[in-house]
Amino acid sequence: MPGGHSQTLRPFLWCAERLYPDTEIVSRTHEGRTRHTYAEYADRTAQLANALDEHGIERGDRVATFCWNHTRHFETYFGVPSTGAQLHTINPLLPDEHIQYIVDDADDEIVFVDPSLAGKLAGAAEGAEEFADVDFVVMGSTEIDELDATPYEEFIADQSTEYDWPELDGDQPAGLCYTSGTTGKPKGVEYTQSMLWSHTMASQTPQGIPMEDADVVMPVVPMFHVNAWGMPFTATAAGAKHVYPGPSPDPADLAALIEEEGVTISAGVPTVWLGLREHIAEGNDVDLSTLDTVIVGGAAAPQSLIEWYDDRGVEVLHAWGMTELSPIGTVSHLTSDLRDADYETQVDKRAKQGLVVPGLEFEVIDENGEEIPWDGEAFGELRIRGPWVTKEYFARPDASEDEFVDGWLKTGDVVTVDGDGYIQLVDRTKDVIKSGGEWISSVELENAIMAYDGVSEATVVGVPHERWQERPVAFVVPGDGVDREALVDEIQAGLHDDYPKWWVPDAVEFIDEVPKTATGKFSKKDLRERYADQSLV
Ligand code: ADP
Repeated sequence: MPGGHSQTLRPFLWCAERLYPDTEIVSRTHEGRTRHTYAEYADRTAQLANALDEHGIERGDRVATFCWNHTRHFETYFGVPSTGAQLHTINPLLPDEHIQYIVDDADDEIVFVDPSLAGKLAGAAEGAEEFADVDFVVMGSTEIDELDATPYEEFIADQSTEYDWPELDGDQPAGLCYTSGTTGKPKGVEYTQSMLWSHTMASQTPQGIPMEDADVVMPVVPMFHVNAWGMPFTATAAGAKHVYPGPSPDPADLAALIEEEGVTISAGVPTVWLGLREHIAEGNDVDLSTLDTVIVGGAAAPQSLIEWYDDRGVEVLHAWGMTELSPIGTVSHLTSDLRDADYETQVDKRAKQGLVVPGLEFEVIDENGEEIPWDGEAFGELRIRGPWVTKEYFARPDASEDEFVDGWLKTGDVVTVDGDGYIQLVDRTKDVIKSGGEWISSVELENAIMAYDGVSEATVVGVPHERWQERPVAFVVPGDGVDREALVDEIQAGLHDDYPKWWVPDAVEFIDEVPKTATGKFSKKDLRERYADQSLV
């Protein structure tokens, strides 16, 4: 229903501005560290909204960003959708042809771009007809060489700090994010005002990733990746302090921000937390005493990572989600029944993807189309539905049966559910290794291998095999100075003890780095392609 009672983002900022006007939004930028209060932030979002109006942006138009995590990018988070326009966060790590495709598919009117990413965007835009009518604003105070772009500070400078925010309907499109297209073309997921509102409210429950006004929240997960898991909205709803780590932060940058800004909650893919762990293991002294929680998602959090951070007083909260879910689906909190359990049982549970957050429903369907029992053993494909789950892909109203069925989103994730309701991801349907007609979980093997000392990162993929269809091969990035032969023997022997014989990888290969997708996940596709014609097994 239209009117002031719809589920929209604007009231979150309205509240933060009035209750916590002096709370800060801090950012590491190319111009140094910047600080704004919520009061200043609210003024600047109003200036941005006025500037967009003056530029001719209308309700329903799409406004894109091509940026790292910083305050100006955060200004677009409220400044764009609260006018009724739609914020399209582009992943700058995508290949040029994907960037051209999505700018065209989204019909973007204007792109806000970071100076450090302008060269990349100019490369994608040069001579591309998809960019013919697109205007650029560069996130800084000065012009740049790479693109004909208005500096952001100039764009908003003469605008009023008052804006007559419209009353929007909950169905009004507010956001747009493309999945990284691990298979085929990127697919757009549209977030309406009410999807983002309900995702924020669910995040704020004790079963979500709750925050309060005393928190200092640092999303390391990029703001171009599903709205940094919604954290900028959740932190605003809480009235918390925001800390944005800016362009390509390395572990030393993150450590400095944690220490100097007193970060209490942070979030990112496992690679980020493995990186910080390594930085500390190398002898760098980092004070983690303010840090209560790191939210780890996007890929499985290895048990060893959870234990390492536990030892330093930092709770790893494992979460599972998808672009299609705005993105949070499950969070691995301990139920009250488990609070007195022994540590091993607790870590075992916390390493699972977790319990569904309130508001969502799910079912798990096996190969025969039957719902699996909740016994922690049987597995099938996870289907999910709820107020912040998309029901179709952007500009593709004819949903495919492979993606949606009877109102459920088919996640493409193969999971078990245990008797307590904890969901555990066994694999992605396309990564599960099919050996001799049986399934092997690549994820489980990876976690087992990553627990060995001397392994910095590891991934396991199925490579084609004449007799068995596919066989697992492990790719390991060794730590410095490791005796590789001894490590292989140790891994093979250890896996033999813990898993059925046919689960043990036929080969362990050393690589310098696990190839990553544009969202920082292990790119198994790359490895499979790279090793497809080399007979490892
Ligand atoms: P893509 O990687 O294709 O761009 P998303 O970024 O939306 O898509 O990724 C969603 C997928 O990431 C999930 O379907 C799941 O396979 C994986 N994923 C997300 N969180 C976790 C987690 N905590 N553990 C394991 N896998 C995860």
